[in-house]
Amino acid sequence: MENVIIIGTGCAGWTAAIYTARSNLNPLVISGTQIGGQLTTTTEVENFPGFPEGIMGPDLMMKMQQQAERFGARVEYAQVTGVTRGEDGIFTLDLDGKTLQSHTVIIATGASARYLGLPGEEKLVGRGLTSCATCDGAFYRNVPVCVVGGGDSACEEATFLTRFASKVYLIHRRDPLRASKIMADRALANDKIEPVWESAIEEYLLDENGEVRGVKLVNLKTEARSELELKCVFVAIGHVPNTSFLQGTGVSLDEQGYIIQTKGTETGVPGLFAAGDVADHVYRQAITAAGQGCAAALEAERYLAAHE
Ligand code: NAP
Repeated sequence: MENVIIIGTGCAGWTAAIYTARSNLNPLVISGTQIGGQLTTTTEVENFPGFPEGIMGPDLMMKMQQQAERFGARVEYAQVTGVTRGEDGIFTLDLDGKTLQSHTVIIATGASARYLGLPGEEKLVGRGLTSCATCDGAFYRNVPVCVVGGGDSACEEATFLTRFASKVYLIHRRDPLRASKIMADRALANDKIEPVWESAIEEYLLDENGEVRGVKLVNLKTEARSELELKCVFVAIGHVPNTSFLQGTGVSLDEQGYIIQTKGTETGVPGLFAAGDVADHVYRQAITAAGQGCAAALEAERYLAAHE
């Protein structure tokens, strides 16, 4: 029987592991398929406090894991497929072919950026294709880039990118934008943003190093094809929270599938806490996820003390 099982190894998961390990709760961390989470798909992280020179995303995640393991956190490299809470308050977790039991569970499974689903896409992430303007925008100074999407995220990212890029094409499959009026108006009023309406990317064009040098577009109304020369594609077509394994736990999800936190990191199911991007579609930053991981650990610790 475990005191605390943490599901997920992104910033929220490892921070929860560091805190619960230092509280002598001997946490068990379940890795999931993408060990280290979203930051392992980025290059340099320049906005995580404490690294004035920046740090590569995978290195940051490895350091977090080392820090958690230094205090005794254990890692099981597996995928959780189901969580249930018995009438005795004990959680049972189904892993590939085995079960584990715990008094508390912290869900930190994050969210995965939705990409376009074009062939070879996964190999281009970090090579001129990204879903995070805050992370990667500063690498594209004085060059043209594009943002795909028509929601608030796309408008926010396009507006943010005008600080760096010479031009930002905003490629949306419809006309008008889905974004709220204020966000849409702000983006469209920006001289550096050029909307490309009713269009979709059909193909990424690559240079001799295999990096993005442009995109091939199709106009969805006229079917006319065209090409745009640019250095980076920022995809902002939404995120998918990794919550599909939570059916039957009693956790409430919003209409997009994010866990609804009832108070702090509590989920409404006693002893079950949620931290990071699996419950946060607003900030979605490494540091905010880490902060929630810390909060979930403290709340799990208090819950265990109260139920001793
Ligand atoms: P969203 O509102 O769901 O918008 C996604 C956009 O991507 C839509 O314009 C959609 O097109 C487009 N899209 C979806 N799948 C696509 C595909 N396969 N190919 C091309 N385009 C595709 O997502 P979001 O912008 O990430 O926002 C999520 C939530 O966070 C929203 O509630 C938003 O208001 C909120 N948010 C708020 C702020 C803020 O207030 N500061 C900032 C960011 C996000 P269609 O329009 O045709 O469906």
